[in-house]
Amino acid sequence: MRCTPIPFHRPYLPPDASARVQAAVESGWLGGDGPHTTEACRILEEILGGPNVFLTPSGTHALELAATVLDLTPGDEVIVPSFTFASTANAFAVHGATPVFVDIRPDTWNLDERLLTDAITARTRAIVPVHYGGVACKMDVIDRIAAEHDIAVVEDNAHGLGGSYRGRPLGTFGSFAALSFHETKNIQCGEGGAVVVNDPDLLAAAEVARDKGTDRAMFFRGEVDKYTWRALGSSHILGELPAALLGAQLDSFKVIQNRRHEIWATYRSELDGWAAAAGIEFQSVPEECRHPAHLFALLMPSAAARERFIAHMRGAGITTAFHYQPLHISPAGRARGRTGRAGCPTTVDVSERIVRLPLYPDMSDADLERVVRASCAFQVASVGGPAR
Ligand SMILES: *Cc1c(COP(=O)(O)O)cnc(C)c1O
Repeated sequence: MRCTPIPFHRPYLPPDASARVQAAVESGWLGGDGPHTTEACRILEEILGGPNVFLTPSGTHALELAATVLDLTPGDEVIVPSFTFASTANAFAVHGATPVFVDIRPDTWNLDERLLTDAITARTRAIVPVHYGGVACKMDVIDRIAAEHDIAVVEDNAHGLGGSYRGRPLGTFGSFAALSFHETKNIQCGEGGAVVVNDPDLLAAAEVARDKGTDRAMFFRGEVDKYTWRALGSSHILGELPAALLGAQLDSFKVIQNRRHEIWATYRSELDGWAAAAGIEFQSVPEECRHPAHLFALLMPSAAARERFIAHMRGAGITTAFHYQPLHISPAGRARGRTGRAGCPTTVDVSERIVRLPLYPDMSDADLERVVRASCAFQVASVGGPAR
């Protein structure tokens, strides 16, 4: 009997998802900032322990909103890791800023804070830490360096909702933090995101920038008697239909997260002996970090071993996935960005060897067991030749 295929990812749909979206449709309020948005923001603010969350059409939009409010202009530089999604750099590059690519740490695969000071110039305006897999960057060091040089921090927290660093929720560190609710993320509404405005001095400008550069929010509060075009902005508001789906997801936050953590912990413990014997590494999770089980990755001993592993798993009906291609050597990264003399060797190395296992809330115990068994049946040694 052939086993049914196990996908890499399957978006979780809470039982009331359809009813919520239908209610939103029937309410007639389809634009943004309606009751479903209010409800989703309330839960997000509860998770983050602070106010000032605005839903956006995507995580990319949230980063672009930050770039708009920071008033980045051509020649300004923004420090980003090379090992990340294109949006982390693109959101700033579309405003003419130059992404400056910095390498990652070999243990957490996060922006290497030890390389920051060297990358800073008189034109540096922002640092964009990405918490890979929701494992926090060394935020105390990053915040200190940013403050010393009077540079903004914009947190790309696309992976990290529910995670924390030294007890403080991820998404509350930067002047702005971006969240993503893309269907591949822990909490999703197809396409969606949010910007967290952590610096109260930037709140008024963010309200204008998200609403096409107008002061309509002030008008609705009765603070001005008509609204007009005030500054640069764009259409950064999420409609009520995806917001309704998002609200349903957020109501199930604990259920989703508990199951993701169960799966993550099972992989970690069941694969431990096999990985150690085969020279396969896991992402390290420093003691001060609580991660939200966004992904489970293996660092294979070589690129060849990774290719063989992916094929081996495919043979067992299991889809696995590698991850980011280094941005500093991507066509747009080369054309628009800058990389220090040392390059980003760890980014290149990790991107060639990393592979992610299936991880989604409605994965059954039987399927989880199948992935564990299939993984452990893979033998790195049979590659032949030196491991690396
Ligand atoms: C998903 C993601 C984003 C934003 O994605 P959207 O699809 O625009 O919501 C940004 N950065 C990282 C690291 C991501 O993984």
